Amino acid sequence: MKIILLGAPGSGKGTLAKKISRDFEIPQISTGDLFRACVKAENELGKKVKSIMESGALVPDEVTIEIVKERLQQPDCKKGFILDGFPRTVNQAKALEKISQIDSVILVDLANEIIVERLSSRRTCPNCGEIYSVEDNPEGKCKKCNSKLIQRDDDKPETILHRLEVYERNTSPLINFYSERLFKVSSSGTPEQTYQPVKAFLEKLEAKA
Ligand SMILES: [Zn+2]
Repeated sequence: MKIILLGAPGSGKGTLAKKISRDFEIPQISTGDLFRACVKAENELGKKVKSIMESGALVPDEVTIEIVKERLQQPDCKKGFILDGFPRTVNQAKALEKISQIDSVILVDLANEIIVERLSSRRTCPNCGEIYSVEDNPEGKCKKCNSKLIQRDDDKPETILHRLEVYERNTSPLINFYSERLFKVSSSGTPEQTYQPVKAFLEKLEAKA
């Protein structure tokens, strides 16, 4: 089962990906993680990616595609995978078609007002990366490592609106590209309420394969 997840930052896409990955036993692959792993590996490609990221530029399509391609060839992807954060552009989507046949694209849909509300209450542990909401963690201390939580610049209301604009601009051409394979789900309820229709849909998809 080869799936792509599309959804704005703060739409609950990451939580949904984890549930799918757990129940359907397929890896969740995010380009952010791949870039970090690549840099750590300190090979030729890693050095290239490191210098691009340090310059603040976006990793070019051909490099990203090369990295994704290599990842999808790993044995744990045999049963399928969930791509998160890739493809970002129609160009990348076209290149991906040549590497792998995607079964379905799940679009996690949430109104901008709710996203802004959710993200502005988000607090991050600067030490271990764990994420909390102000409501669930009013003490502002990480439950895993006891560090003091911070609000990332990315999660401040003024930057959220900008991130949402960028997301919409990039994603609408992708939604068109995948229109025939698109499964749309609203994430306005709880994470479990978001997951249930997706799970039912994927079980059908799995049965067909
Ligand atoms: Zn922590």
